[in-house]
Amino acid sequence: MHEMGIANSVLEAVRTEMNRRPGSYPCKVGVRIGEMTAIDQDALRFCFEALILETDMASLELGIEFCPRRHRCQDCGGDFIVRDYDTRCPQCASLETTFVSGDELELAYLEVEEYGSSTVGEKSTQ
Ligand SMILES: [Zn+2]
Repeated sequence: MHEMGIANSVLEAVRTEMNRRPGSYPCKVGVRIGEMTAIDQDALRFCFEALILETDMASLELGIEFCPRRHRCQDCGGDFIVRDYDTRCPQCASLETTFVSGDELELAYLEVEEYGSSTVGEKSTQ
């Protein structure tokens, strides 16, 4: 399953980052997902939760930022969100448009809490 591999690499990235921050633990990780990646957000969330279950990161929350497909018009220079695979410019109806974004698959942010100074009621030490 595609989503399982992605959930795994997100967790690996979190682990790598947390190795550089002793004394703190991750509470929320955000990923940016473009429409073109065809990733099923629900499936990704499901895989992620299955992976962290009963681990030291069981309280880690996954935030998903969805990025729609965007094109830019060669004729009028405007950019727009592509809907229903219609890549025509909504302003001037030109067919000369190019892909700008929507294939993102990256870590957007990572929120950490320090042990001891936490406001969260979790006791996930170890
Ligand atoms: Zn245009």
